[in-house]
Amino acid sequence: MTEERLMDKIIEVCKRRGFVNPTAEIYGGAGGFYDYGPLGTLMRQKIIELWRQSFVLDEDRVFEISGATLLPEPVFQASGHLESFEDPLVQCDKCKSMYKADDIIKRSTGETAEGLPLDQLDKMIKDNEIKCPSCKGDLGNTRQFNLMFSTEIGSTGGIKGYLRPETAQNIFVNFKQLAGFMRNKLPFGIAQFGSSFRNEISPRNFLIRGREFEQMEIEMFYDPDKENEHPRWEEVADIDINIVTREMQEKGWEKPLILTAEEAVTKKHVPNQYLAYYLALETEMLLALGVPEDVFWFRHMQDNEAPHYSAGNYDLEANLSIGHMEIVGNALRTDYDLQKHAKASKSSFEIMVGDKKVTPHVCEPSLGVGRIFYLVLESCYRDDDRGWTWFQFPPAVAPLEVAVFPLMKKDGLAEFAYDVHTELKEAGYLSFYDESGKIGKRYARADEVGIPFCVTIDYDSLKDYTVTIRDRDTMEQVKLPLEDLEVALGELMEGDSEFQEFLEFDD
Ligand code: AMP
Repeated sequence: MTEERLMDKIIEVCKRRGFVNPTAEIYGGAGGFYDYGPLGTLMRQKIIELWRQSFVLDEDRVFEISGATLLPEPVFQASGHLESFEDPLVQCDKCKSMYKADDIIKRSTGETAEGLPLDQLDKMIKDNEIKCPSCKGDLGNTRQFNLMFSTEIGSTGGIKGYLRPETAQNIFVNFKQLAGFMRNKLPFGIAQFGSSFRNEISPRNFLIRGREFEQMEIEMFYDPDKENEHPRWEEVADIDINIVTREMQEKGWEKPLILTAEEAVTKKHVPNQYLAYYLALETEMLLALGVPEDVFWFRHMQDNEAPHYSAGNYDLEANLSIGHMEIVGNALRTDYDLQKHAKASKSSFEIMVGDKKVTPHVCEPSLGVGRIFYLVLESCYRDDDRGWTWFQFPPAVAPLEVAVFPLMKKDGLAEFAYDVHTELKEAGYLSFYDESGKIGKRYARADEVGIPFCVTIDYDSLKDYTVTIRDRDTMEQVKLPLEDLEVALGELMEGDSEFQEFLEFDD
């Protein structure tokens, strides 16, 4: 299988089986917009809930807000987005196609050109004789292009507004109320999940670079003098994280460094506990979603890749079939945003810590839902000798958890199976009932969308109240008393029991 085709195969299954499809495709679509279908919505919801549980609800001093997506111009004037939220655009003189200059350089030469000034990008394009990928025409000079979508607010115009390019700004502009809610005590965190919009020059690679996407972000505010006094440090100190240091990048690297969060901070590979805390939580979250540990790492970004005010940016990158991709951005934003908004709005965002006034520093983990969603799809996609493709989703992310089938529609089997399905739904399982087609076909259809377990009702079920459970991963089947089904499924889903144990019991 060629690498390019893996993404195409996944896109095809996603479209056909109700995961994700391009927006408004009947009218030719609009590049960079996607709709989640019925199964995609269930799965996306599980990803969001997993984040919400471990990053927000399990914490005492982190609360979630839900802000407006359209914000007035002064917000972005103060934040610096109006001036500098831009990408270098280069256009083909002949066919007028547009490209992100650093992307086209990376594709042609393999060199990273992110953050370089325009004249250097032009020089690299010239020196490497890079032409338009679609018509081989000459490329013009590079210019900056602002990525924000703008609009007019109100019927008479007047106020200019922008769709937010990141969820973070709502949190900074509400800082005073939020700090008050948190009783003006540090540290505290404000989380937000929601849509962000960027008018990307060349949206591509499916959910990896869209023009509308969802982010799950936290702004964690702390006293910079206490950057190594994270209140929950003990809980993550021993978690292994994969790090790629700046030095490794300069020398060339094959495998990331595996360090505990504690070692990463004490050896100064990660600047402080606040950042390392989130690298540990993200690691745990991806493992729970079925992403293998050797597929992702945290890369310390080079100076020219991070904003000038950054005290350390660490991208979670994954080795996807289309290359190394940023999945999550982690940034120490210092007090930059609060200072900017304080000055522009003539407010003070200082907090008293003892007898000292502090403008809090911020640690921001920014997780993109779409990129994590695609990473899970690629990590779980299986194309072995089954005769059909399947997703090995862990139950924690599987859009449907169990499928219930009557062997035949007749002789009361369908009614029996439908009752079992209803009971499973009442017990909280995401159950799916399917009575059409041959049983083998139904198993294949269930595998294709990654349903971990199938339950079949046959003639024995009518006689002795037993059902057959089939395990998606091994395709093994075992008979169980109906009364044990719910508990057995619960244990299998939670990973408290292996399917093998049920087989031994059956023997
Ligand atoms: P950034 O602020 O650019 O570091 O973005 C933070 C996170 O948002 C990234 O790591 C992605 O997960 C997500 N993200 C940013 N831009 C896009 C995009 N165009 N399409 C999908 N996800 C994105």
